[in-house]
Amino acid sequence: STATALEEEPIKPAVQVEHTQLLIGGKFVDALSGKTFPTLDPRTGEVIAHVAEGHSEDVDRAVAAARKAFDQGPWPKMTAYERQRILLRAADLLEKHNDELAALETWDNGKPYEQSAQIEIPMLVRLFRYYAGWADKIHGMTVPADGQYHVQTLHEPIGVAGQIIPWNFPLLMFAWKVGPALACGNTIVLKTAEQTPLSALYAAKLFHEVGHILYKWNHAHLLAGLPEGVLNVVSGFGPTAGAALASHMDVDKLAFTGSTDTGKVVLELAARSNLKPVTLELGGKSPFIVCEDADVDQAVELAHFALFFNQGQCCCAGSRTYVHERVYDEFVEKAKARALKRIVGDPFKSGIEQGPQIDSEQFEKILKYIRSGVQSGATLETGGDRLGSKGFYVQPTVFSNVEDGMLIAKEEIFGPVQSILKFKDLDEVIERANNTRYGLAAGVFTKNIDTANTLTRALRVGTVWVNCFDTFDAAIPFGGYKMSGQGREKGEYSLKNYLQVKAVVTPLKNP
Ligand code: ADP
Repeated sequence: STATALEEEPIKPAVQVEHTQLLIGGKFVDALSGKTFPTLDPRTGEVIAHVAEGHSEDVDRAVAAARKAFDQGPWPKMTAYERQRILLRAADLLEKHNDELAALETWDNGKPYEQSAQIEIPMLVRLFRYYAGWADKIHGMTVPADGQYHVQTLHEPIGVAGQIIPWNFPLLMFAWKVGPALACGNTIVLKTAEQTPLSALYAAKLFHEVGHILYKWNHAHLLAGLPEGVLNVVSGFGPTAGAALASHMDVDKLAFTGSTDTGKVVLELAARSNLKPVTLELGGKSPFIVCEDADVDQAVELAHFALFFNQGQCCCAGSRTYVHERVYDEFVEKAKARALKRIVGDPFKSGIEQGPQIDSEQFEKILKYIRSGVQSGATLETGGDRLGSKGFYVQPTVFSNVEDGMLIAKEEIFGPVQSILKFKDLDEVIERANNTRYGLAAGVFTKNIDTANTLTRALRVGTVWVNCFDTFDAAIPFGGYKMSGQGREKGEYSLKNYLQVKAVVTPLKNP
């Protein structure tokens, strides 16, 4: 059985941890304090490696390196074609090291290796190629003015970007942040999540191995390769390293992905320091709406994926499954059967659908929400407890008869816990789906085009997936309405987070 299998020795990952220091100015260095912190294997809770713990003085050093690279280095000034070539070569290198990156990601995060290797690392590579494509297509406009003027806008890089990322998709979040920032010619200080520092260090190192290409362009000889100081990575904790970055006077832009509570903190830190513009990608409580015409088997499978994917650790997880009363009973029965069939186990084993949760804190929080669901009167259809005796595995859990007012229907659980709610008609489900502080995403399952059109227009969310879920192509913008965030990442929309617009006004004729 699954529980017995979890008592076996965990599978040894086919990768060495090579990089545990901070990456500052193109070099791996210890924290100035000499401090380290352990990063843990979620399968066992045991230490994988001790990682340099950056504090504000290290953030200062990293920002100084990024500042120098921006103000004095070639990166923002080189031709866009050059930057594009560097990003493309970096993407090739990331692709070449697909399996090592995937192994590190799974080891540190606990997600199924097959998912890392076959989906996430290829998405990372795709994203860098996508933004490489943008690098030489960023330009301003010629603008008409009320007078004899030539007016143009220049789209310039904003400067030093501070980026703070979470632990649920460490490398994808790295790519969403770093890709557009580099394409636009910015320099970067990135702080990884304390739970998952390893894969970004490896990926960032590959950017420095792009190599130097000497070539001729407009009669000038240019030296290519990611110049030192352009991409700095600082591991460390939120209230120390993260807060230092958010409040730094010499950081020109902040991008943050994480919880809504922490989003408020970093926005305030940014405002209190130098008013750096901030993009926020925060929490969610996304509705997944199964309409009365739905093919129940297909709806169950997609709703299951929408919630359980990545151990339920997705900001956009379909965590409120609204099912029309006509198909409700059949849906609940089949959703339960599907959850019972979910294959949980060592994420390095093939065929595994679900690994452990990230850490003991999240694990305890999920179990607490499950107890709250039971206490508030929802029906526990299956699951509800931990799995095995070590690590942070949680049974795939399904609640039916969930009411909107229950905590499990209101707060982000971030775990493998599906909440199924019943609805009668469209107006009602629209109102209930929108009755939340969040507005990140929604799923709609119907074959009726009128129903689909009504729901896609009425839902106050940044993404509506109709008859699909978690489709994350590089070109599709992602972000939240309401307290799910500010701004959009990915796609063309992300570029404007990393650009300043300068208007240049010149009289057509000198006086
Ligand atoms: P979670 O609760 O899922 O860990 P957080 O929002 O706390 O989500 O974490 C997301 C990222 O924000 C992590 O890199 C974390 O270290 C960082 N972080 C946490 N607290 C702060 C803070 N006070 N200031 C800046 N960054 C923070």
